Amino acid sequence: MNPTLPPDAPDTTAPLSSTGQQQAAVRDLLTSCVHCGLCLEVCPTYQLSGDENNSPRGRLRLWREEAEGRLAADAWTAQYTEECVGCLACESACPANVPYGEILEQTRHAHVHGHRSQVPLSLRMIAQLVRCPRLFQAALLPARWLRSLGWWRHRQVFPGQPAVLESTANYARRLMTIHRPTGPRVALLTGCLMEALFREINFATVRVLIENNVQVIVPDDQGCCGAFQEHLGLDGIEAMRERNRTAFSANEVEAVVCNSSGCGLALSKGMTGQIPIRDVTSFLGELNLVTRLRSTNETRVYVDLPCHLVHGQKQPGIPDRVLDATGYRWELAPMARDCCGSGGTYHLQKPETSRDMLARKSAFLNTAAGDPVILATSNHVCLMQWHSAGHAGLVTRPYQVRHVIQLLDPGEDFTIRRSSATV
Ligand code: SF4
Ligand code: SF4
Repeated sequence: MNPTLPPDAPDTTAPLSSTGQQQAAVRDLLTSCVHCGLCLEVCPTYQLSGDENNSPRGRLRLWREEAEGRLAADAWTAQYTEECVGCLACESACPANVPYGEILEQTRHAHVHGHRSQVPLSLRMIAQLVRCPRLFQAALLPARWLRSLGWWRHRQVFPGQPAVLESTANYARRLMTIHRPTGPRVALLTGCLMEALFREINFATVRVLIENNVQVIVPDDQGCCGAFQEHLGLDGIEAMRERNRTAFSANEVEAVVCNSSGCGLALSKGMTGQIPIRDVTSFLGELNLVTRLRSTNETRVYVDLPCHLVHGQKQPGIPDRVLDATGYRWELAPMARDCCGSGGTYHLQKPETSRDMLARKSAFLNTAAGDPVILATSNHVCLMQWHSAGHAGLVTRPYQVRHVIQLLDPGEDFTIRRSSATV
């Protein structure tokens, strides 16, 4: 039985916990916490609430006590589980290597199946839609069109000019035919929301890779990474992983590169032992990158590091040489390794706590040097969250949000530096 299910609830966590051994393994994981408390000071929900139950150590204790039958399966434990933003900062801080993210994923799923946590119908519908990428992209065509014209103003939809009709797969094929790069061969995960709404970032990724002599393959039959389902505790992740395993394995590539750290982390869980999954920034950090030349030094770029890059994928950050290649004066944003509150779907499910997390991080922008000021990161949901800071009145001066890859973008008119691509 799953440790977080009440005794009479159906244990329908398969295939995440499809065997007795796997369930026992999760139960064992709950015993790996040695209660040292070193994770408390990095946990945003504990920092905001001061409540031990709202900390990694507190949540692990509640889940373990339930699993061992010393605590009834009550609403409080489900609520404290929902309060967790899933930033995984506690994993980075933990000396005992407690796999908090893995336990959280299992627990969320069990709570949803045990009807202890509710997923709003609107999010369930989106979760269904993203399972069919073509349908999702078609459904958001009007949104892409409005964005491309600059007519869609929304607190979380940052400005941009995505292609309305042409897919990233087709665009990559077109550029590959024109430029014929000869360097490393990679596949690109386009992502569901990225491709449906923020496609201009995928296009920029293709241009940056090809400019640096990287061959880019974009499999048409790839699907969503499953992060949306994972955040919500819904079923169907294994089928989504299988689809991506098939799509990416069919191509002879050295790696699958991802331009969204959350998607990269989710994809990597389904590709263990297969093709390496690389964040595009760390992949580019190993190349002799083309450097952009800037005529002004008034612009200042503040770099925020996505939690799922540094705590999930355990990357040291975005490589300095990549940020140097943007040609801008840049520095890490204050609290760059702390969570901005986006948390995948957390900003939709817990908007008030999410806003409180963002308020702590974004206040510096009000007095930050630079004109213009750019907040750059490498996860589209974090970009949405940072953009919302202006609408929420947390940042009252003009600022822009950009994906790091957009700061490297050569634009449509570029040539390849053939000798640059060495990994
Ligand atoms: S994932 Fe983040 S919010 Fe959740 S317990 Fe760990 S540090 Fe706290
Ligand atoms: S740092 Fe690790 S071992 Fe220590 S209390 Fe937190 S989860 Fe438990």
